[in-house]
Amino acid sequence: MYQPISRVVLLILTSIALACQPVAENKKTTDTEMKFTDHHTFARPEEAVITHLEWDAVIDFDHHLIKATAAYNISRATGAAAIVLDVNNLAITSVTDGRDNPLSFTVGEEQPFLGSPLTIALEDTTSQIKITYTTHPEAAALQWLSPKQTAAETMPFLFTQSQAILCRSWLPVQDSPGIRFTYRARVQVPPGMLALMSAENPQIKNADGEYHFAMDQPIPAYLMALAAGDIGYKQVGPRTGVYAEPTVLKAAAYEFAEMEEMVIAAEKLYGPYPWEVYDLIVLPPSFPFGGMENPRLTFATPTILAGDRSLTSLVAHELAHSWSGNLVTNANWDDFWLNEGFTVYFEQRIMEAVYGRDYAEMLAVLSMQDLQATIADLTAKGQAADTHLKLNLQGRDPDDGMNDIAYNKGYFFLRLLEEKTGRELFDAFLKKYFRENAFKSMTTERFIAYLNEHLFAAHNLPVPEDLYQQWIYGPGLPDSHPVPVSDRFDKVDAVVKAWAGGTPIGQLISQEDLLTKKWSSHEWLHFIRHLPQNMTAGQMQALDDYLRFTYSGNSEILAAWMVHVIRHEYKPGYANLENFLVSAGRRKFLVPLYGEMVKTEAGKQMARRIYAKARPNYHFVATNTLDEMLGWQENETS
Ligand SMILES: [Zn+2]
Repeated sequence: MYQPISRVVLLILTSIALACQPVAENKKTTDTEMKFTDHHTFARPEEAVITHLEWDAVIDFDHHLIKATAAYNISRATGAAAIVLDVNNLAITSVTDGRDNPLSFTVGEEQPFLGSPLTIALEDTTSQIKITYTTHPEAAALQWLSPKQTAAETMPFLFTQSQAILCRSWLPVQDSPGIRFTYRARVQVPPGMLALMSAENPQIKNADGEYHFAMDQPIPAYLMALAAGDIGYKQVGPRTGVYAEPTVLKAAAYEFAEMEEMVIAAEKLYGPYPWEVYDLIVLPPSFPFGGMENPRLTFATPTILAGDRSLTSLVAHELAHSWSGNLVTNANWDDFWLNEGFTVYFEQRIMEAVYGRDYAEMLAVLSMQDLQATIADLTAKGQAADTHLKLNLQGRDPDDGMNDIAYNKGYFFLRLLEEKTGRELFDAFLKKYFRENAFKSMTTERFIAYLNEHLFAAHNLPVPEDLYQQWIYGPGLPDSHPVPVSDRFDKVDAVVKAWAGGTPIGQLISQEDLLTKKWSSHEWLHFIRHLPQNMTAGQMQALDDYLRFTYSGNSEILAAWMVHVIRHEYKPGYANLENFLVSAGRRKFLVPLYGEMVKTEAGKQMARRIYAKARPNYHFVATNTLDEMLGWQENETS
């Protein structure tokens, strides 16, 4: 059973052993730094910790199962009698040591969203543990797609989403961002399929469907990833390439042709790219996130295939995670902003380097809009504590902390530090931060200490204690926030104002402007977001006739427009709203759209009707959020 208090006691008892055998950190770490705190794992790494995995797996598409053996090398404190791993819904067949001698084990009581502890008794000489197991057909991290749910409709498809704590549903593991391990894998898939992992990957299919993988740099469990299906590969640069279903490959390679340029820009900012290769796989539409920064192989939604490279800031974001998150990792999910706030900041800097300041500032303005909306929403719900950068997610699903606060409040805080100290000093500091903390985990408190020493004290600058209190430990958006300015958006605002005042849209935006794509996706997004909140059906129709938002192939534009479709009960948009919700599984789009529908009784009925149809296409990460919003019961048919 999960008991944080016993962990503190244990820490005191084992602190002497740890002094000679540090397992999580190296060098002269103090007690506060050493303390392992993660509410969301049963692991007790102070006693025994995994260091390397050999994974041998057979993927069974007929029964939606993975049958596998996970063999770990472990490091243990003197006298440690057991190692504890996390499991969620796994059927454990046997546990042995490295020589196939059985080890006794227990699977503890299941806890909501945490799963169960797998406690394995260690013999005096045990240095390896080998677990044979089968996943459950409903494993939370695994999305099994039928051929119909893929682009070519010929083969089934499987992908994983391990963040935050779902890895334990497909691999028995110490599932904490504060625990890292290297891995090798052998994966058997049906012939005709390609399998990929967050590792050194194959580029072509082989005849027998057996693939081998190596990840020699230590990563935490949430970055474990697997995808399998009818997948092809196309190189786009010396270190960069794209994987996708064959029918999508050409469009994907075009869309992401600038990846190499982004890697070069990122390296100029914060040091050499540390993972050798940067590839991206475009997944089928049910992928619940925009992207997931699995090392060496970003997983991405097809909703960023806009045809004009206008939504590739997502690539900059996932690429930035190669430093912030994958290299220097939040120690637990309360410190999630250290992953995401840094990554949004870094993403902005890459976009500025590649596309210019005025382009990047549009993104910053959109970030501010998202942030203000999220703060207003959380504050109205009485969850002001969730608007602090440093969270307390004890007893809660870590998914609760995965919102705009970590991303955008984190971003603006770092931007504020940059504005206060100057870009030159701040860049030098960040470069050093990534270099000196590579392959380590970081807590908010250790980051503040590092910041004080290496940025402020090192340059005789006063420590901004008040800013830490406001931004990290305080609610809402502090008055000290940076104000992004975008001339390009100011021009958009002028158009919205004139249109709302009665000028026909055709007089404000010419046919030529539309044909030459004078406005980027971001300008259109800003335009739609700032349309009046009380438009008439005639006004909606006039806009739609001219600008064709209802039929947009750009998912960002479509999703923003559909909020108005719902709010204004614009019936000509309903059919495409339903199509979009049934085909796209990206939570970022689903939540605001369903959220808008449930505001009225009629909308709620529409939402539940569409959801019944769409739910089988969504990943657990999305249904987990939406079931609650729609009051959906598990036994309802979908
Ligand atoms: Zn991210």
